[in-house]
Amino acid sequence: MRSKIVAGNWKMNKNMEETEALLTTLAAKLPDTDAEVMVAPTYVSLANAVRVLQSSTIQVIAQNMHFAETGAYTGEVSADMLLNIDVDTVIIGHSERRAYFGETDEILAKKVTTALEKNMRVMFCFGEELEDRKSGNHFTVVENQLKNALFDVDASKWKNIILAYEPVWAIGTGETASPEQAQEMHAFIRKTITEAYDVAIANNVSILYGGSVKPGNAKEIFSKPDVDGGLIGGASLVADDFTAIIKAI
Ligand code: 13P
Repeated sequence: MRSKIVAGNWKMNKNMEETEALLTTLAAKLPDTDAEVMVAPTYVSLANAVRVLQSSTIQVIAQNMHFAETGAYTGEVSADMLLNIDVDTVIIGHSERRAYFGETDEILAKKVTTALEKNMRVMFCFGEELEDRKSGNHFTVVENQLKNALFDVDASKWKNIILAYEPVWAIGTGETASPEQAQEMHAFIRKTITEAYDVAIANNVSILYGGSVKPGNAKEIFSKPDVDGGLIGGASLVADDFTAIIKAI
């Protein structure tokens, strides 16, 4: 059985005090849920976030990592550094990393390999741009993103992969994919994984939707059979909104 997951990607928001305050509120308000709840604050606040959430079920995850073990990579953070502060899940392939930091499929494949070798869980993000959807290429684009970064992964490692489909045109724009569009793509993703691996792997992987998920639309999106939760940006920075989205799952 695959897990339901609601994750908040805080991106480059909140300093350490603000992070601590929001986490304390979230931990206090956390609704009863069988979903895994995760938050991804910035690197500088990660270790403190782990400490603040010590007795909470909310998991602290990282927004990114480097593929190298260690060495001369100024400004970067390694898998071992994350594990050392008890962060064992990492977002890889967010569209902002791809667009603003030149992360190619090849780089992402290396990051995925390193994280999985370290027994970390990977939340792999992907999704088409507006032009791809307009030209009807969205399925091909998504299939290639998966193929290029994930399909060399050994079947035994797929238990540590979480997928997050985030159509770029829906991120931070207030425009969400309709629940039907999300379901259609999630079903396509599962079919693609079935073809590359097998039906058990496809059925066991959690596929989250991300892109302008808000308290007002979460329930309908999460009600779709192949949507296993959400990766939330803006709304995860507001305790009441994030809590409402967790309740919607
Ligand atoms: P928004 O929810 O702000 O659209 O961001 C989605 C996202 O990029 C999560 O990773």
